[in-house]
Amino acid sequence: KELGEMSLKDIDQVARTAFPLCMRHLFDTLREDHHLKHGGRMQLGLFLKGVGLKLDDALAFWKAEFSQKVGAERFDKEYAYGIRHNYGKEGKRTDYTPYSCQKIILSTPGVGDHHGCPYRHFSEENLRAALGKMGVSSRALDDVIEKAKTKHYQLACTLTYEAVHGSSCDAGINHPNQYFSDSQKILEA
Ligand code: SF4
Repeated sequence: KELGEMSLKDIDQVARTAFPLCMRHLFDTLREDHHLKHGGRMQLGLFLKGVGLKLDDALAFWKAEFSQKVGAERFDKEYAYGIRHNYGKEGKRTDYTPYSCQKIILSTPGVGDHHGCPYRHFSEENLRAALGKMGVSSRALDDVIEKAKTKHYQLACTLTYEAVHGSSCDAGINHPNQYFSDSQKILEA
């Protein structure tokens, strides 16, 4: 596999090991509910584009999930456009860039939305459960929660990264795609 390419057969494994919590949550929700609202489709869709998922694979990926909820025909009619749009194939043909942490942290998810930054937008209870699922040990978990409570969301994410990978991240996390590429470097080393 070439560097910077993501194949569909690897995506579940990679999501478990190298996605930051915000993307892991969107990914798991999509797999479970077979649906994401607009904000989630944008945040996860552009992230996946950034990790190297090609347009055809992205269409196949989203269609496989949405078809189970709304049917293949409605996917093609209502949702495929948005995915092609993210890749600059529709509308103004802008090649959109994945969202930074700052943008995600400042977003305002409403009821039924799953986008945003979990360190900011989750309740403490949900955050604890999600971090447990990520494999953060109970000792590290309290430090992460403390950072989140004091509104140091990116530091909380950095501590999670360090706990999950057992490796330091001196630069800190400022972009979900940076979390991903730093994780990949460690996992492939
Ligand atoms: Fe995602 Fe950034 Fe929040 Fe981490 S700090 S969960 S990468 S938005």
